[in-house]
Amino acid sequence: MNTPMHGGLGIYIHVPFCAVKCGYCSFCSFPYTSSAAAGFVDAVIRNLKHYSDKGRPVDSVYFGGGTPSLLRAGQIEDIMSELHRSFVLSENAEVTLEANPGTLSRDRINGYLSAGINRLSIGVQSLDDEELKLLGRTHSAERAVKAVYEAADCGFSNISCDIMLALPGQTTDQLDKTISGLTELPLQHISAYILKIEDGTAFFSRGVQRLLPSDELTAEMYLHMVRRLGESGFQQYEVSNFSLPGYESRHNCRYWMLEDYIGIGPSAHSCCYGRRFAVPDDIEDFTKSNAQREYITEDTPGTAEERIMLSLRLRSGLQLSMLDDEDRERIEKKLPALENAGYCVRNSDNISLTPEGFLVSNSVISYLL
Ligand code: SF4
Repeated sequence: MNTPMHGGLGIYIHVPFCAVKCGYCSFCSFPYTSSAAAGFVDAVIRNLKHYSDKGRPVDSVYFGGGTPSLLRAGQIEDIMSELHRSFVLSENAEVTLEANPGTLSRDRINGYLSAGINRLSIGVQSLDDEELKLLGRTHSAERAVKAVYEAADCGFSNISCDIMLALPGQTTDQLDKTISGLTELPLQHISAYILKIEDGTAFFSRGVQRLLPSDELTAEMYLHMVRRLGESGFQQYEVSNFSLPGYESRHNCRYWMLEDYIGIGPSAHSCCYGRRFAVPDDIEDFTKSNAQREYITEDTPGTAEERIMLSLRLRSGLQLSMLDDEDRERIEKKLPALENAGYCVRNSDNISLTPEGFLVSNSVISYLL
């Protein structure tokens, strides 16, 4: 399908395999076997051909999961080769692969680099072994630290680490140890997520939500983290994302800026060709089908409400002059209360949430809408 050149395109590939299912995880994932992975890679390649579009440049590719680093470098290389045949990859495209520390070795890291991966997102989660055990993660803090050093040593100059906070029994001091450890590592980006226990997860059935820190303690930890990361040069650019200047995740920014992307793989979502669509979370169906099945989730993405909601997730905020008169007047009337509460700041035409506002962003955004 060739479309006229109108802005770049992102490609998301959902690699739905994990060695072990973590108790808190609600993502679509299946047990890894080498034959399931081989069938999956073939299906991804067929789907890349199916969506082939040389009319616009691909400026971000993201292998997410699941655990993409369970795929061998050769398999990532096969997918990247098809990407080059079916699309026009921009010269400076950001190509991210999510990796679990336990699956990384120097050989694998070098292989990913040769395949064209230029950004590694490592699922560190914590630098405290007790916390990692509690989360059911199979790596140690030492292994996670080593993985970051190995990636940097092999030549990755754009490394992100994921961490989680507000874990059962966690104190601000314990979180601070993970933050201090991380900020000493050669990395450029940190994603930090507050642990949420979703219905349907093993943690939910075990009642772990009762052990989570109070809202007050969670707020204290989040604000402490924002401050500490800021002091180390990691500026907050989104509710859960921090980076050194120039290292914001280009791919993830597409989601918040309503730029087009195509998702491939079970449960992957797309926003492209003027609609949102998703793929059922069925690995067998995905592997057997010539082209992945899709169902429409939204016919008219990019409503004013959605734009307001997504812009306010970003530190860059919302430009009031982009809104129609009715929305602008309604929001302007409500702003003083939010400014007085310290949740939002206005800078002439621009409004943006403060860290305190990010913490309660869902309520702030519902109030404004
Ligand atoms: S490794 Fe990641 S995707 Fe897999 S089960 Fe754990 S949290 Fe979920």
